[in-house]
Amino acid sequence: MAIPPYKAPSRTAYDIVIVGGAVIGSSTAYWLTQALGNGASILVVERDSSYEFSSTALSTSAIRQQYSNPINVKISQFGIEIIRGFQERMAPFYKDEPAPDLGFREHGYLYCCSP
Ligand SMILES: Cc1cc2nc3c(=O)[nH]c(=O)nc-3n(C[C@H](O)[C@H](O)[C@H](O)COP(=O)(O)OP(=O)(O)OC[C@H]3O[C@@H](n4cnc5c(N)ncnc54)[C@H](O)[C@@H]3O)c2cc1C
Repeated sequence: MAIPPYKAPSRTAYDIVIVGGAVIGSSTAYWLTQALGNGASILVVERDSSYEFSSTALSTSAIRQQYSNPINVKISQFGIEIIRGFQERMAPFYKDEPAPDLGFREHGYLYCCSP
């Protein structure tokens, strides 16, 4: 996927400014947009649009769904559904081109333990 060129902010002031646009920053921006609609202006500031050195890009993409706390299980299940359906969810924002493929491949998770 081509690296987006630098784009200057279109306004001089925003209701919400998020510093860092990797998984947490982008997700926060997306969900705030969903929650607040067009009523709030949100700016994501990212210093490296290639994301090459972000933890998100360096991650091994292992997503564990076993936890002792049910809330953590739910959070993880929610996250994995978002990642699985990412391209479809983003499609409305990409009118003339396919939405980005995250390249996520599920290979399972191996636990080694004693009897
Ligand atoms: C090698 C590695 C393997 C991992 N494997 C896993 C795994 O298998 N499973 C798992 O669940 N987690 C894993 N993690 C952890 C997971 O990747 C991170 O917790 C997650 O990606 C953090 O996301 P983030 O958006 O908070 O941070 P990041 O992905 O680091 O994003 C921060 C962004 O902020 C930008 N930024 C920082 N400062 C500024 C600034 N001053 N101005 C503008 N922009 C700025 C950076 O350029 C970057 O894009 C791994 C991490 C690493 C490093």
